[in-house]
Amino acid sequence: MARKITLIPGDGIGPDVAEAAKRCIEATGVKIEWEELNAGADALEKTGSLLPDAVVESIKKNKVALKGPITTPIGGGFRSVNVALRHALDLYACVRPAKTYPGVKSLYKDIDLVVIRENSEDLYAGIEFEEGKPETRDIINQIKKYTSKDIRQDSGISIKPISKYASERIARFAFEYAVKSGRKKVTAVQKSNIMKFTDGLFLQSARKVAAEYAGKVAFEEALVDNMCMQLVQKPKNYDVLLLPNLYGDILSDLCAGLVGGLGVAPGANIGRDMAVFEAVHGAAPKYKGLNKVNPVAMILSGMLMLRYINETEAASRLENAVKDVIAQGRFVTYDLKPDPKDPSAVGTREMADAIIKKIKK
Ligand code: NAD
Repeated sequence: MARKITLIPGDGIGPDVAEAAKRCIEATGVKIEWEELNAGADALEKTGSLLPDAVVESIKKNKVALKGPITTPIGGGFRSVNVALRHALDLYACVRPAKTYPGVKSLYKDIDLVVIRENSEDLYAGIEFEEGKPETRDIINQIKKYTSKDIRQDSGISIKPISKYASERIARFAFEYAVKSGRKKVTAVQKSNIMKFTDGLFLQSARKVAAEYAGKVAFEEALVDNMCMQLVQKPKNYDVLLLPNLYGDILSDLCAGLVGGLGVAPGANIGRDMAVFEAVHGAAPKYKGLNKVNPVAMILSGMLMLRYINETEAASRLENAVKDVIAQGRFVTYDLKPDPKDPSAVGTREMADAIIKKIKK
């Protein structure tokens, strides 16, 4: 019987890469019945909602979704649909593997690390107070009362909540992930020397969970600023990185850069019993509808999805096909060519065709 999976094409380059991923996944022979629904600007036009209830309900029912990127306008307008979706489904763990594939332009070889980012709290909780509003002034005055610290009256304020509950939950997820995937070390990345009550709590929670895995998975601690430098200098020293939300977002882009860029960086947002798989990259609006961008990040997100639904053999075949096509360097998009202006670069669809050919071989 076919497995039902929600497919959200997204906007910008989303529909191009989602279609490529869908075709590659289908080529593995795994029987999937896609329930296609959209969110974001396209959904707003058609349904009047950026995140229609039907999308959330479909994922709750099917438990698994493959999602293309969705644009978030900067400043006013709507908050990120991506963040809203993660909150609505309590997808608390963001998993972003960063692995070098031979043939991808990168300063490094043989990198294989995974960023595990807490997805529900921190400065991304969406608790913000706008400059000049009465409630903002009230908070500024309360802070003065409790801390004797002055905040300028013309400030905006973003709140950074970090709880013991969510920190232990993500730490346990990271250690369980390490055990299941045969990884050796978890590094908790934070800035506990400065933010003692938030990052400090995150670190204490990680230490507590680490003690339960002593002898099975090694544990180490790193401050986020130092970690950025260490990752650039010695990325091979790291295995699983465990981070709160904001640092996790930033460092996963850094790690994507270590292994050749956003075009090849897949991801997953995982909750207690459901998961949404999506590339690290965004909607790159300037390439919308051009059949130009690299579909690999989205295809590899599909590979992670196949693993999640226990189709491990199909997942390996898909990953190997991607690896072969990249290594051959012939049917690849502009970003994977030594010169991005190389006229022999193929489009999104054509690269997917080459991957499908390999899968079916
Ligand atoms: P982006 O990832 O969309 O694009 C940045 C640049 O990276 C692009 O201009 C392009 O040069 C390159 N790039 C990205 N994906 C590529 C691919 N598949 N192949 C080749 N090159 C690729 O980042 P941005 O410009 O900061 O964000 C654009 C929009 O996407 C914003 O509205 C942002 O909020 C949104 N976004 C959405 C998600 C998501 O849906 N999960 C994630 C990140 C950003």
